[in-house]
Amino acid sequence: MAAAVAAHVLVFAFPLQGHINCMLHFATALAGAGVHVTFLHTEHNLRRLGCRAPSAAGSPLLRFLSVPDGLPDDHPRSVADLPELSKSLAEGATGPFHDLVAPGSPSSRAADAGADPTGGFPPVTCVIADGLLPWAFDVAEGLGVPAMAFRTASAGNFLAFLSVPNLFELGELPFPAGGDLDEPVRGVPGMENFLRRRDLPSFCRRPIDTDDDVDPALHALVDRTVHSRKARALIFNTAASLERSALAHVAPHMHDLFAVGPLHAMSPAAATCSLLREDDGCVEWLDGQADRSVVYVSLGSLATISLEQYTEFYSGLVAAGYPFLWVLRPDMVGASRGQDATTPQEAIIRAVGETKARVVTWAPQRDVLRHRAVGCFLTHAGWNSTLEGVVEGVPMVCWPFFGDQQMNSRLVGAVWRNGLDMKDVCERDVVERTVREAMESAYIKGTAQALAQQVRRDVAAGGSSAMEFERLVRFVKDLNT
Ligand code: UDP
Repeated sequence: MAAAVAAHVLVFAFPLQGHINCMLHFATALAGAGVHVTFLHTEHNLRRLGCRAPSAAGSPLLRFLSVPDGLPDDHPRSVADLPELSKSLAEGATGPFHDLVAPGSPSSRAADAGADPTGGFPPVTCVIADGLLPWAFDVAEGLGVPAMAFRTASAGNFLAFLSVPNLFELGELPFPAGGDLDEPVRGVPGMENFLRRRDLPSFCRRPIDTDDDVDPALHALVDRTVHSRKARALIFNTAASLERSALAHVAPHMHDLFAVGPLHAMSPAAATCSLLREDDGCVEWLDGQADRSVVYVSLGSLATISLEQYTEFYSGLVAAGYPFLWVLRPDMVGASRGQDATTPQEAIIRAVGETKARVVTWAPQRDVLRHRAVGCFLTHAGWNSTLEGVVEGVPMVCWPFFGDQQMNSRLVGAVWRNGLDMKDVCERDVVERTVREAMESAYIKGTAQALAQQVRRDVAAGGSSAMEFERLVRFVKDLNT
């Protein structure tokens, strides 16, 4: 009988910060379980990360390789360019990806080479690709290499996309022009008691400034969701206790399903994965603040705000009266009404004073959230940030922008109740009121702490996510026997 080939998983994340973070935690956990893992970056991101050396991975079983994303190096790759990035990646990376995955292909294991062109890694036995990269499954399965899908957003978000045909049938979509976004929505199973129109993926809203009923991005995302059903299994960075009902409703549509999150709590990645340089000085600044006194503000890696939003938000934050640590990326505040986009950092410090405010371009977020001085997390409710806030038991105020953020925000405000949903409008009074409530409410503090304990049990040995992860490792290893 032929000996079983060692498992070697190629993990391929869509090249955005939120996707890289959780898939790198996942890759690290797999390597920790004795599986060879190649984590595939784009060349552009790998250069920014500077983690080409295999030792940067922190495990001899984890290495980084890259494929081109098809865009020139000086391209901004901003949120507005995502459709272009998606298209150029499919065009630019398919060939190199094929060569990496192809059994026995000489170029397949060449990259971080040295004397041994395979880097000591066996051939790829399984591809786990981001659900936003449907072509990667097709290439892998076409080569006879089993492919699984990884979704970096919530199970509820996936379920909403699966339910879109039903929402059209029920007449819930398209939304009536000028209709009330706070109206409840029928048609997403298990969520009918809390979901409003505004909580559906933002692509369900009518496109702004066009006569179209439906955003073309909605079709593209529904297609990708349906495509994920072909995968050998679907993996979510979520915990059963957070999304039991959504997982139960997604499961019948899939060959198999694994809920293995929150991954950052299970396996902190050893390699750096921040595309922007983290400002460690902000942790020292936190050291000088009183317990639970600081509002940490971060709107993730993609959201941008207009100058008007910035002014409203800033005014509300200052009026709330707490010290704050605010992540303001250089590309975050856009020009509007003909004014220039200026960097507002200095202006804030001048107005508020250094002890009361710290503004950074990127923070070591997980260290910040677990710092004793942080009393509340004002977040855009990206799924990673949401899970990071949940695990640390920090009360949250959610100001969602797009994609799945509205639904995550609703989970926080109405289902888990570990924070407040500011909705996707920014008014200074609302900012002031919700920040005050999140900082002072004993009820929210208690709920946030209880939720954190529950999720920590999920990822600890014997917990539901930990056991699902062990089942997944067996599943991956069994693919080669
Ligand atoms: N993040 C960080 N430092 C920051 C802001 C964000 O490390 O200053 C990380 C955060 O911990 C999270 C990721 O960036 O893991 C953002 O992902 P998320 O899904 O929350 O939002 P996205 O950026 O995709 O909108």
